Amino acid sequence: MGRHFLQIPGPTNCPDEVLRALAAPTIDHRGPQFQALARRVLEGIKPVFGTTGPVVIYPASGTGAWEAALVNTLSPGDRVLCFETGHFASLWREMALDLGLRVDLVPGDWRHGVDPAQVEERLSADPGGEIKAVCCVHNETSTGVTSRIGAIRQAIDRAGHPALLLVDTISSLASIDYRHDEWRVDVTVAGSQKGLMLPPGLSFNAVSDKALEASKTAKLQRSYWDWQPLLAANANGFFSYTPATNLLYGLEASLKLLQEEGLKNVFARHERHARATRAAVRAWGGGLEILCQDEREYSASLTAILVPPEFDADEIRRIILDRFDMSLGAGLSKVAGKVFRIGHLGAFEDLTLIGTLGGVQMGLQLAGVPIDAGGVNAALESLLQENR
Ligand SMILES: *Cc1c(COP(=O)(O)O)cnc(C)c1O
Repeated sequence: MGRHFLQIPGPTNCPDEVLRALAAPTIDHRGPQFQALARRVLEGIKPVFGTTGPVVIYPASGTGAWEAALVNTLSPGDRVLCFETGHFASLWREMALDLGLRVDLVPGDWRHGVDPAQVEERLSADPGGEIKAVCCVHNETSTGVTSRIGAIRQAIDRAGHPALLLVDTISSLASIDYRHDEWRVDVTVAGSQKGLMLPPGLSFNAVSDKALEASKTAKLQRSYWDWQPLLAANANGFFSYTPATNLLYGLEASLKLLQEEGLKNVFARHERHARATRAAVRAWGGGLEILCQDEREYSASLTAILVPPEFDADEIRRIILDRFDMSLGAGLSKVAGKVFRIGHLGAFEDLTLIGTLGGVQMGLQLAGVPIDAGGVNAALESLLQENR
């Protein structure tokens, strides 16, 4: 009875307005009704990225938009600078290698974000400008760590380096403050199924002028992902191949919700829920740790929690799914079994958080983790303070 609690950090819960919009009849994607829809969403998505430039929309998962960012801007053998902040950053690096790029990897401990000082150091050591792109994951969904893209931009500027800045915002867009134009990001990669509160299936590239310029000489093979035919068709309100029409209806509904709430309020809501979640974790004690170790980098869209070594995080998640019908995020690759993740992003409000934390608290108790049962109360107190 009741709704499943989908508290993984993506896909997230779809608001009823979005679900209803998705249910509209599919229309001719070469007709005038579609053209008007496309124009609305192609324009309406821009402020969410903090850009006035073009945003390319693909019928694809976020991984597709990663590939698009690389193949449109780079050539075989180009060097790119990557950071081992967690699972998703590691996958992006592997893709770069698969595509024939050379990767300079800055190793990491999966508890910190991209260090701007390291960016400056690596780029300063490359006076010939051999490094063509810096690839960063804004919000590392496997660890709950948010890298400071504004500070990374400043580090690139201090090094006086011409590299492109490519940023994955798949689990931060529309949840955490992000400024494509102000931070002079060249390609911002995003997906539909996290902060945008849509089902999986759409992904995005926000593209700077510099990235468009780079695409004219970029030699990596591309066809489906090529920006040029899409941008040319978009200029008339169409796509160069069949778009995901119904997801675009959903996107329009989601943009309306975001606009009504106001992006500033959306970001503040996510921060409030992240603070309350951390208050619960600290009050639970019992050897639980917030995985993120730098408070400047706490993620507002999810919290990854390290369990004491004698417990299995997957077993705790299994109990919670079995007894309380709630899905939590699993620990991925290096932290599998050691970490579980609470997604508090997208269509999510104070009482959703309390229900979520209630399920986590009971699950921890049932698994025998020696926690203090004051965790949910600490979260309530945190929310109460912020509602005064
Ligand atoms: C979810 C996620 C991805 C993967 O996106 P897919 O849609 O599964 O391809 C990549 N990066 C980050 C940061 C993510 O959160």
